[in-house]
Amino acid sequence: MDLQHLTWLANRLMPTRIRRPISSSFMRLLNWRRHGDPYFFRAVSVEISRWCNRACVYCPNHLFETPREFMTQEVFDLALQRMAEIGWRGFVDYVFYNEPLADPRLVSLVQQTKRALPRALPRIISNGDLLTRELAARLIEAGVTHFILTRHLPERPGWRDRVQSLVREWPRYFTVLESPGQVRWTNRGGLVTPEGFVPFTSCDAPENSLVITLNGDVVLCCNDYHREHAVGNIREQSLLEIWQTPWFARLRKEVRQGVAKLPICKSCFGLPTPQRPPPKSAVFRRAPDSEPASAAGTPSQA
Ligand code: SF4
Ligand code: SF4
Repeated sequence: MDLQHLTWLANRLMPTRIRRPISSSFMRLLNWRRHGDPYFFRAVSVEISRWCNRACVYCPNHLFETPREFMTQEVFDLALQRMAEIGWRGFVDYVFYNEPLADPRLVSLVQQTKRALPRALPRIISNGDLLTRELAARLIEAGVTHFILTRHLPERPGWRDRVQSLVREWPRYFTVLESPGQVRWTNRGGLVTPEGFVPFTSCDAPENSLVITLNGDVVLCCNDYHREHAVGNIREQSLLEIWQTPWFARLRKEVRQGVAKLPICKSCFGLPTPQRPPPKSAVFRRAPDSEPASAAGTPSQA
């Protein structure tokens, strides 16, 4: 049984709170065998665009605009090249805070991934709003090994029936999560306050996924929404060089052991920290009939 099927089985049989520690231990064992480092990253997330069609209340996307900006082919090629340099065989995701299915190039990007990294596992993490049967079939043919679809509210008309019929047709390819309910949302480094948020006592987010953003920066983790903590850039460094950057390696060890020093990490751990203004480039979403918004405004926690 390969990693794709093991993941599917675990997602299907185990509730999240049991599955996470088990899958984390399993991946550490696998990484120890493959890379000699149990804490090596388990997935690479490539931010192919910045746009999402939703603005969920537990996501910073409900506070800030998600512009229709796309990763250039040059940066995407470089991301594949960097993964090929380390013989990457793990998951490749096409997401940061964007909706991957909204990128018309997605099928082609998956094909390119499989050509460059034949043993990698392209995975689609999505809200599923735009997933038709035809698109699912093309993505599977291109090499997608797994879809993780989250049902967000309000549910789009026909979402459930459409997704259920996809699951019936390709049962091993789909994991469907309900939100709220089956997803434990984080506070995204202090940007949002999701219902039932439980502060971290330790953190493995940086090893869970190495995030390559639109401009080639590798950022701290999936909660670094504003890309405040760039560790390095794939134009200048290999993934290994970036991963082994001393401050980053130290930080990973500290947060794993429950020690948060950066303000963003303190926020995840529920520790008091001064409020951090968003970067100047961030554009607040406009409430209907409001004045034009800017980064200098105050976000409303809808
Ligand atoms: S939670 Fe997902 S679907 Fe919702 S706004 Fe954020 S990225 Fe988009
Ligand atoms: S504690 Fe730090 S490393 Fe962990 S998710 Fe939060 S910001 Fe990222």
